This record gives sequence, C-alpha cells and structure tokens, in this order.
Amino acid sequence: MEEELEKDMTPKLIGETWLQKHKQEGQRYRYGLYECQYCGREWECLATAIKNGVTKSCGCQRGKGFKHGLESNIFYPIWNAMIYRCNNPKSTGYYKYGARGITVCEDWLNPKNFIDWAQASHPNIEGVTLDRIDNDKGYSPDNCRWADKTTQVINQRMKKNNTSGYVGVSYHKGTGRWSASVGVKYKKAHIGYYSTIKEAVQARDNYIIENKLPHKLSTDYQKD
Ligand SMILES: [Zn+2]
Repeated sequence: MEEELEKDMTPKLIGETWLQKHKQEGQRYRYGLYECQYCGREWECLATAIKNGVTKSCGCQRGKGFKHGLESNIFYPIWNAMIYRCNNPKSTGYYKYGARGITVCEDWLNPKNFIDWAQASHPNIEGVTLDRIDNDKGYSPDNCRWADKTTQVINQRMKKNNTSGYVGVSYHKGTGRWSASVGVKYKKAHIGYYSTIKEAVQARDNYIIENKLPHKLSTDYQKD
C-alpha cells in the first residue's frame, strides 16, 4: 500500500501578491489572496504573515495546538490579541483595528520580536496595557508604549472636551486630529491639523518663532 504524503497545510497563494499602500502610515505592505488548506476559505492576508509562519490558517484553526514555544510567555497573549484584532475579521474588535487600517508592523508579525521589545520596555508594574501613542497609526515600536488606564482615560477625556492642556491646541472632531491655532491681532490663525498633541504643540511653537510673534511658547508655560 502506498503511503500517503502528509499534506502541506501552508495557505496556498491564489494568483499574484500585490503591494497595498497603508492609508495612514503611507507604508506599503504586500498582500495576497490565499486559500486555507483546512477549510477551503479564501481570504486576503499579509504575505509576510504567511511567509513567517505566523498565519497558518484563515483563523479557523486558532488555538488548535500550533506551537512555537512562546505560548507560555506572559507577553504572548498580548501579541496574540494584537494580531487577532488587526488581522482577523472574526475578531469582535476588528472594526476598530483591521477594518480601520490599523496594522501590526512587519517586525512584530513574528511573536519573538514583539516579546523581545515587550521584555525590554515593560515597566514591570501592574495595570499597564499596550497603548498606541497615535491612534491612527498601527502597532510598531515607534508608536507603542505601556500606559496605565489613567493615562488612557485622560487622553480620551481630553479628546471629548476638546482640550489638550496646551494653549492654542484643541481636538477637532471632524478630522479626528489636533488643531493648532494662534490668535494674531484679534483673529485666529489656523496653523494645521496633527495626529498627536505633541506635533500640534510643536507646529504652533514653530509658527510663533517663524513669524516672530510675541506669544509665549509651550516650553515657557511648562517652566511656570
Ligand atoms: Zn480555514
């Protein structure tokens, strides 16, 4: 009797891969249409996630014993949840993440790299969670930090009340960005919209310096 060869369960690429520009980051990621070898479903997936072996099925096999020796690490569930809400339409949080173009950077598709970062950066205190600094950008070492609930709640409250804590910088609901402006001769000069408070404050300071305005800079306020 002929022995049956073990079937290769790696998702099968259908056609060519393509580069897709990320709306907010401007970075391009390679995607492909894949066929799940477990259930036959076709789905679009980051090509690197298949290549790195991070994604082994369309999601139908999650939790069914895929092992790479990292599952017991305390940061593994955080990595897993991050990947899940960004890459899997079945995730209840997908509409807030993957569907909005929030991605996990290529480096972090490999759980080992994320865990290395987490071990080096975590403050070793309880009650902190993985937080994205700029809510419009994805998960990457540049845009992530560990923040406690208070920091995150304060950030949300600031947005709700349109306040940044800085003069001339307020949250603009229409664009979902921080608006910087400065009062010049009884008129408000609008400088621009920025993703973070920090960028808006910096832009306002630059504007004051460039236009030689008599206004105080944000750094002067902080000294008071
Ligand atoms: Zn499947």
